[in-house]
Formats: sequence, C-alpha cells, structure tokens
Amino acid sequence: MPGFCLAAQNSATIPAMTETTTSKRDSGNIILIGMMGSGKTTVGKLLAKQLGKTFVDCDEEIQRRTGVTIPHIFDVEGEAGFRQRESAALEELTTRHDIVLATGGGAVLSSQNRELLRQGGIVVYLKSNVHDLWQRTRHDQSRPLLQTADPRAKLQELYEQRDALYSEIADVVMHTGKQSVHVLLLRLQQKLETMRNPIQTGHQESMQTLVVGLAERSYPIHIGCGLLNNAELLLPHLPRKRAVIVSNTTVAPLYLEQLSAGLVQHGIQVQSVILPDGEQYKNSESLNTIYDALLNSRSERSTPLIALGGGVIGDITGFAAATYLRGVPFIQIPTTLLAPVDSSVGGKTGINHPLGKNMIGAFYQPQVVLADTLTLNSLPDKELRAGMAEVIKYGLIRDLPFLEWLEANMEKLLARDREALQHAIARSCDNKAKVVGADERESGERALLNLGHTFGHAIETGMGYGVWLHGEGVAAGTIMAADLSQRLGWLSAQDVQRVRALFERAGLPTVAPRLGAEKYLQLMGLDKKVADGKIRFVLLKSLGDAVMTGDVPQVLLEQTLEACSV
Ligand code: NAD
Ligand code: MG
Repeated sequence: MPGFCLAAQNSATIPAMTETTTSKRDSGNIILIGMMGSGKTTVGKLLAKQLGKTFVDCDEEIQRRTGVTIPHIFDVEGEAGFRQRESAALEELTTRHDIVLATGGGAVLSSQNRELLRQGGIVVYLKSNVHDLWQRTRHDQSRPLLQTADPRAKLQELYEQRDALYSEIADVVMHTGKQSVHVLLLRLQQKLETMRNPIQTGHQESMQTLVVGLAERSYPIHIGCGLLNNAELLLPHLPRKRAVIVSNTTVAPLYLEQLSAGLVQHGIQVQSVILPDGEQYKNSESLNTIYDALLNSRSERSTPLIALGGGVIGDITGFAAATYLRGVPFIQIPTTLLAPVDSSVGGKTGINHPLGKNMIGAFYQPQVVLADTLTLNSLPDKELRAGMAEVIKYGLIRDLPFLEWLEANMEKLLARDREALQHAIARSCDNKAKVVGADERESGERALLNLGHTFGHAIETGMGYGVWLHGEGVAAGTIMAADLSQRLGWLSAQDVQRVRALFERAGLPTVAPRLGAEKYLQLMGLDKKVADGKIRFVLLKSLGDAVMTGDVPQVLLEQTLEACSV
C-alpha cells in the first residue's frame, strides 16, 4: 500500500479516574482480555449477541480508522506506533456503553491502558495454556508478533510477560481449556450474573420451602437463587459425611465443581459419576455404571446419591438409589425447569427399556430437593419452553389464579426473571405436591397431571422420539384436549383461544403434526378394532378444572384430530 500515510494521532491522555467499581458495571461494558488465540473475538461476538450488546473488536476498530491492516501498521510505524493507536482507540471505546470489547493481546502492556480497561467495564480474562494458543494461531499469518522462526517459543515468552498483567485487572478469569465455546459462554454468563447479583453466603432470604406431605416420607423442596452455594441445606441429610453425585457431561462442567466445593468445605467426602447426556442413556447400562461406581468405592447404605441434572438424571439416580443395597438416601438437585416442577416431585423414578419408555422403575421419594433458579440461566431456550408446558398445565388443571398470573408474567419468565421463575416453580411444585400427597400411587387425582399427555405421547412417538420434546408434545396435546373439551360443550371458543394464546407466547407449538386420525388413534391405543376398549382422557370442564373421562364419542375425537393438526 505505497501511498499510505497514517494520520497524526494524539497520544492517549489519562482520564480522570474517579469512577467506582459500581460505575464500571453501570457502563454495561464487558471487556475481554487475553492472549492472541484465546478466543476473544469468537466469544465476544456470541456473548454480545446473547446479552443484546454491541460487539467491538479493538484491532478491527484501528483498521477501520486507519484504513489499513494491523501488519501494515506494524510495518510502517513499528509496534510502538501501533500501541499508540491502540491506546487512543481504547480511550474512546471505554467511554462507550453496553459494548462487548475484544482487546488486542498486548493492550495490557501499558499501565495507562490497564487503568482504562479496569475502569471501562467488567474485565474478563480468557486464559489459555500456551499449547492451545499455539494450536489455534499457528496457521494465522495476520499476527505480526508471531512471524518468527519459533512462534511457539514466542507465545511462551509473551505469555510469561503478560499473564500477570491480565490477571491484575481481571474481574473474572475464564480458563478456556478444551470445552466448547458454548459451554464456555454459559459459564461466563453465570459468572457475570453472579457478579451482577452477588449472592450472600448463608441461606437466601428469598428462599421458599414447600413440603411434600407423605407422612413419614414427607420431604422439603427448597427453591431459591444461588442455593447450590448453600451446601448446609444438605448437611442434615449427610450424616456420614459422604455423598455420591450423579450428573451428566453437560451439567457436570457447569455445576459439579460448585456443588462439590461447598460440600467439601463442610468436610463431606464427595464422589461423582458422570453419565453421557441424553434420554437414550436413561437405560440399564447407565444404571450399571452407577452401581459399578458405588460398588467399587464400597459405598454404604447411609451414603446418599445426589442427582444433579434434569429429569433424566433425576429418574435414573432415583432408581439407582431405590435399588442399590435395597435403598439408599436420595437427594434431587434439579437443573432444568421441567425437573423441579415435575420429575422431582412425586417420587417416580426409573429407566427406559428398549420396548418402552419409563417401563422399569420404582416409587422412591427423595430426602430433600434443592431447586436453584440460577442454574436455569444456562438452560437452552427450547428446554426452558418445554418445561413451561408443564407449568401452564398446573394452571389449567387446578389453579385458575396461577393461570392468570402466567398470562401476566410469561415474558418475564422467558427472560428468566429470577423472582418470576421462583414463583412459577414454587406454585407448580405446590400444585403437584398437593396432588401427589393426596394420591401417591396414581389411582385417581394424580392422573389429571396427564392433561395433554395422551395426545402428546402420540405425537412424540409418531414423530420418533427426540424430534418433538416432551413439553412440545404436551403443548400441542393440550390444545387438542381443550378443543375436545369445547366439542363436549365444556369450554367456550374464547377459552380455547386463551389456552392457545398462552402456549404461543411461551413459544410452544399449538398445532400437532398431521399424522392422520387413524395413526393417532392407533398410537393412543385406540384403533378401530379396540374402539370400544375406551381410552380415558383428561379434559377441561372449565379453565382450572380438569376431569378424567372415558366417555368421548369417537366422532368428536376424530374431529379434534382433524382440526388440530396440519
Ligand atoms: P433432560 O434431563 O434430558 O435435560 C434436558 C437437557 O438439558 C439435557 O441435555 C441436559 O443435559 C440439559 N441441562 C440440564 N440442566 C441444564 C442446565 N442447567 N444448563 C444447561 N443444560 C442443562 O430433560 P428434562 O426435561 O429435565 O427431563 C426429561 C426426563 O424427565 C424424561 O426422561 C422424563 O421421562 C422424565 N420425567 C420424569 C417425571 C417423574 O415424575 N419422574 C416427570 C416428568 C418427566
Ligand atoms: Mg409430562
């Protein structure tokens, strides 16, 4: 670029540094620092998108301002010239608001820049080891500092020079390691959330505790934000100072360390068993993995199993607890929305069999359930919405005021407002606990919890397991149940529309796939041959009042199947 001339620049001046820690947070800025190749740009872009902030890459900003590439600036002005331009850019960028700023690897070299960054927002150090950095940068020609005979040694040198400087100004240090960017982002978001809402040690003032009343098997459900840090809530249930945590490959990297650290602090010896993630692993093989670990470590009858995860981990761990040594104590720490509101209340545990879902199992109640709403921050949207289908269900079957509350608060829930989530979980648990308390073995009222499930299961099975999430099937299935209730003259068209609107706002499907009436009937165990072997449906007499009925004229059922699927 022969005619290129870099415009004159002012040397950076030191801004008045009167800002407090709070105001650096108030700017809404997140500043990523770390070595070249640590992933600042990749992570920064994704983080900005998720947080609704603007992404700015300092190097790109310098290139934009000068109109030339960074290597070119190095050629013409040397590293010193580049550093001056970098300082000037940082001076301006750190006065902005709500940006995610990826800085150059050497930005921390000047104390002036360090102060700008420290004051400019929450500083996140993406820390990687030299080997990983080398792997990620070795084919990259655009990094002037690495154009040497031995780039790996150069990286080592730079790392030694800079690591302490990064650490000095970092509010958060994230070890990048081998985890996927997705997991890294989740962990980072949790840390940022914890900084935004610092969790006091000790019990949360806002924690709610419900009791599932089952005589001598009654147990508490604690619901609150940050409960994973309150290991003392579990201590009454760990008399022998030992516990085995069962989790999976998705949840363990997010929360296992936090949970174990709290327990270890209280002198508890912790062992963990990590299963692969997925409904397909809710099987006898995974169960054996748990048994093997317990037997190998000579786990005793008094040592509780702690399920840390969603419904899959809860069900399988519960069944392992029910059967290992004919029963050991069981603790649930649900981390999805579905798990606290549904699978962790009521004591159904079990695994799948190749010939059917949940076919092998036992009723086995936990000692205590700990639902930490903070864990929901990392839950994928789709899973959050699927859990919402069961939450809405409680309003529909027995709690009209809750249904109305959901109508007023759905957006807050989807935005993961902590208080709203806590209320929704507590109210759902309370509803389920009341139903289960009255009918533990599902002889009567408990069956009402299956609103939308007969149709929903047909959708799930008909589409092939895993294509529709359970909650999605339940949502479309509930619309079918509401439609059928209208055909029976129980609900008005407005009622049905109201139900549909709420599921739609929750981002759930309200139309079923068109499998054909015959296929649906067959999947529901109701094909023509067995048309008289009546299937029982949970339907709505009115909103907030479900009933079980075996008296549904086939013609109305067929009309519903036709009307509600596309
Ligand atoms: P799940 O356990 O499969 O979890 C869904 C996904 O989210 C998984 O990939 C999981 O690893 C991941 N995940 C969990 N917590 C996370 C977190 N905090 N952050 C990020 N990712 C996270 O599914 P689920 O919906 O919780 O439970 C479904 C299971 O529950 C089914 O097997 C179903 O049969 C069972 N269930 C049991 C009962 C019962 O009464 N026992 C009731 C309803 C459902
Ligand atoms: Mg369900």
